[in-house]
Amino acid sequence: DSFIKLNLPRPLIQACKTLGYEKPTPIQAACIPLAMLGRDLCASAITGSGKTATFALPTLERLMYRPKRVSATRALILTPTRELAVQIHSMIQKLAQYTDIKCGLIVGGLSVREQEVVLRSMPDIVVATPGHRLLQTGFATEIQELVRLSPKRRQTMLFSATMTDEVKELAKLSLNKPLRLSA
Ligand code: AMP
Repeated sequence: DSFIKLNLPRPLIQACKTLGYEKPTPIQAACIPLAMLGRDLCASAITGSGKTATFALPTLERLMYRPKRVSATRALILTPTRELAVQIHSMIQKLAQYTDIKCGLIVGGLSVREQEVVLRSMPDIVVATPGHRLLQTGFATEIQELVRLSPKRRQTMLFSATMTDEVKELAKLSLNKPLRLSA
């Protein structure tokens, strides 16, 4: 029950140590090994369960050991609200502090110019909020469009505090044979 047993790379274990994480939370222990295998996940996890690190750590691990392609974002994290995007971006920067992985933030309120500056810095990971909030009416079309624009071969992880009909619909649109977990 330590981060070392999860086979995470040293720079990520070091970051957890710096952040004062002594051992993985239950959702982290359950999901990180499966995510590191490349499986799609559908997880319900309550607020404060450590879900950000649950998807951030395996994402960072997979990016650390894959060669960078020029000017391509390699991971996209979508959140329903701007506040959550800001929090996740900040947490990822802390978890990535001993790696060379860069994370950018694109949220409503930034001008096109400001968004360009973020994207020109070629972040490996982009944390973003879609134009409409993820779970509002009409979201399905927007997610469908994002899924259509994403690479066919990809790993997708969906985390939600509750599995409402909207979340189930979102899972159906975006996940490929997901493993379902709750903690
Ligand atoms: P989250 O559920 O992602 O919003 O995380 C809730 C809080 O738990 C955040 O302040 C995290 O920094 C913290 N946290 C995440 N993982 C751990 C861990 N393994 N040990 C202690 N705290 C953690």
